[in-house]
Amino acid sequence: MGSGQVTDWQGKHVTVAGLGVSGIPAAKVLHARGAIVTVVNDGDDARAREQAAELEALGITVRLGDGATLPEGTELIVTTPGWKPDKPLFAAAREAGVDIWGDVELAWRLRGPDAAPWLAVTGTNGKTTTVQMLASILKAAGLCTAAVGNIGVSLLDVVLGEEQYDVLAVELSSYQLHWAPSLRAHSAAVLNLAPDHLDWHGSMEAYAADKGRIYEGNRVACVYNVADKATEDLVREADVEEGCRAIGFTLGTPGPSQLGVVDGILVDRAFVENRQKNAQELAEVSDVNPSAPHNIANALAAAALARAFGVPAAAVRDGLRNFTPDAHRIAHVADVAGVAYIDDSKATNTHAAEASLAAYESIVWIAGGLAKGATFDELVAKSAKRLRAVVLIGKDRALIREALARHAPEVPVVDLDRTDTGAMLAAVREAQRLAAAGDTVLLAPACASMDMFANYNKRGDAFAEAVRELGA
Ligand code: ADP
Repeated sequence: MGSGQVTDWQGKHVTVAGLGVSGIPAAKVLHARGAIVTVVNDGDDARAREQAAELEALGITVRLGDGATLPEGTELIVTTPGWKPDKPLFAAAREAGVDIWGDVELAWRLRGPDAAPWLAVTGTNGKTTTVQMLASILKAAGLCTAAVGNIGVSLLDVVLGEEQYDVLAVELSSYQLHWAPSLRAHSAAVLNLAPDHLDWHGSMEAYAADKGRIYEGNRVACVYNVADKATEDLVREADVEEGCRAIGFTLGTPGPSQLGVVDGILVDRAFVENRQKNAQELAEVSDVNPSAPHNIANALAAAALARAFGVPAAAVRDGLRNFTPDAHRIAHVADVAGVAYIDDSKATNTHAAEASLAAYESIVWIAGGLAKGATFDELVAKSAKRLRAVVLIGKDRALIREALARHAPEVPVVDLDRTDTGAMLAAVREAQRLAAAGDTVLLAPACASMDMFANYNKRGDAFAEAVRELGA
């Protein structure tokens, strides 16, 4: 299918792998353009049958309960990004020389000739926050834009929609990047790289390589994290357009071609005249909400992408000031008796929790849940000196308790030995007992929530409710 835009779909045999949020709209769009579409799906439950009936009524073939066999005559597979690359369907496709596209690749190929350029963001943590900051900055510059992609806004809807955007702030997951071979962003950032989703990708190398695809073919800037060498290595390995620059962001003083922080000011030494000597003030650290170190890093990455697009410094400041983070991301719930209660329920892995713990000096840490195969030694060793005490909840809490015994034996630990929903109130009460004025009680579980709650939102809500009971 080459690597360009595909305009003639008439009579092409396309197999859509997986019913669902991306599969159903993909099937409909391709069918409407004249392709002969077959949808294959592993499941065969009542919901799948309902969805299948809707597609069949349009003339689309659906095979339920058989996601493994490659339909005869398939010229292209369009897959749900979540399907693992080692599935037999894909092995068969590779064998037959059939291309495999994900939802992002399809959107990229279907966008119109005058479509808005993409400023793309990936990374293990901070993606959503960064694309939202980026969109806020672009809007402050008077541009028509939106935060789209993995953030929950379908790229297919965006590229086929009516709105004429000037530029898009695009969040991409490692899965989406894996299946997006011809995507070429205007500029892109990899925020950080820590082990995650390794069962899907097969290895850390494969995970990093998929993240690194975001830099392929960049035209103006590849933005990397100076503190995370792996991101810089990915830039070096990428094949980019002539003249595309590597731009670093750092919480320290920036060198030439970097953005960084000097005396509480975010400064740009990349997109200025004579960058050997000059720097441009962008915003103050206090303009970033919350101004935790990892979030300053996110702001710098967003600023770098916006500046690569030519946005003036004042718009960076205004955009950051206008930005409010989504719930459960270092949200300040209340101060009770001189103790701050912070909800970072979204810290569902150890890398995120480490960033969160680094933002406070003296912490009573509430942690635990589903570990998803993670180990906690590094997190605990790095954070030990900040911990006044720890309260553990959730199914895999023993893993954290053991890491604490190894690396922070002097820190008091309360193991609640509970996984019921009411355990959060007990945890907050324990934390209150252990905290002194000036401390921070931080919910940054380093684990997924599904052992005790429907999702991380519910976990954060339970925390906030418990804190309100304390204050009452
Ligand atoms: P993502 O979309 O990548 O999941 P979010 O912006 O939703 O990222 O943030 C998720 C969590 O990751 C936050 O609650 C915070 O704990 C942590 N986090 C955010 N930015 C960073 C960063 N730059 N480095 C490390 N952890 C971060």
